[in-house]
Amino acid sequence: PGLINRIAAGEVIERPANVVKELVENAVDAGATQITIDVEDGGRALIRVIDNGGGIPPAELPLAFASHATSKLSSDEDLFRIMTMGFRGEALASIGSVSHSRILSRTAADDSAWEIHNRGGEITFPQAAAGNVGTCIEVRNLFFNTPARRKFIKGTSTEFGHIADMVTRLSLPQPHIAFKLTHNGRVTADLPAVASPVERWLTAWPSEFRDQKLDINCRDAELRIRGVVGLPELGRPTPKYQFVYLNGRHIRDKTIMHALREAFRGLMEPGRHPAAILMLDVPPGDVDVNVHPTKIEVRFRDSGRIYSLVLSGVREKVLASDL
Ligand code: ADP
Ligand code: MG
Repeated sequence: PGLINRIAAGEVIERPANVVKELVENAVDAGATQITIDVEDGGRALIRVIDNGGGIPPAELPLAFASHATSKLSSDEDLFRIMTMGFRGEALASIGSVSHSRILSRTAADDSAWEIHNRGGEITFPQAAAGNVGTCIEVRNLFFNTPARRKFIKGTSTEFGHIADMVTRLSLPQPHIAFKLTHNGRVTADLPAVASPVERWLTAWPSEFRDQKLDINCRDAELRIRGVVGLPELGRPTPKYQFVYLNGRHIRDKTIMHALREAFRGLMEPGRHPAAILMLDVPPGDVDVNVHPTKIEVRFRDSGRIYSLVLSGVREKVLASDL
């Protein structure tokens, strides 16, 4: 199983930012209202995610590192989860197989926290330890036993840049959760809980976007799109400031990017990309999320319809504003 986990890790975990994604998503799933991410040396030395969610009961700690073990298949929402949120139950097993990891966790029902270590696939027995309710997962020395992978990790600032972008992306659809990110002991993002994704988006870039945005809210029989787009002068040379979420999960989609550019046709210089956050609600049956292991790319059953709705919804607002 060690080798299989390491191979699986290669599919989902390419760089430190992918570890951050998996750990933060677990913290969100655990009902956290506060998530702190501490990073050292671009994530190569340490990635630590601390949450105040429900915690893991000591008896389940060894399962957390086991592949295809998930605690997330017990409710009516399961089908929805599998279709939209992705279901693997192998992220922690994969991460543990290629790092020195530790889980420290406590549920409200336990008097103490418990910890368990995973050293490249060697898993220790749970031991009592001091800790608050919630979970703290530390991942050190990523890819220490897979030198080929380790070689592909870039410099500290590049990797930390990916992590910071990832935290932004993960925080946008979770406005009610406070996020804090530190790098080598310095706070680089401190996002308080707010009421809506748009508010979170505005706290991330307050000065530029606050008064210069158009609210988007459109739907057809089954699709719904909400969000904001920046005015044309806020267009950027890269799509870095475009955030698209499908049923709460960040995706990258060429069709939607294209529709956004089309909506600004004639108003924005060619080659520029509007800043935008769009939240799409799509019936799970209308989209295949299993195209890419990290689920960032999806395939819509009817992408022409998504294209038209984004284009018309945004274009209408653009034309109605006095530009
Ligand atoms: P998945 O999220 O697909 O279930 P993971 O490998 O990411 O698989 O996590 C394995 C299991 O470990 C989860 O199903 C959950 O029970 C537990 N777990 C992981 N992280 C946390 C956390 N931060 N809080 C509570 N439970 C967690
Ligand atoms: Mg997970």
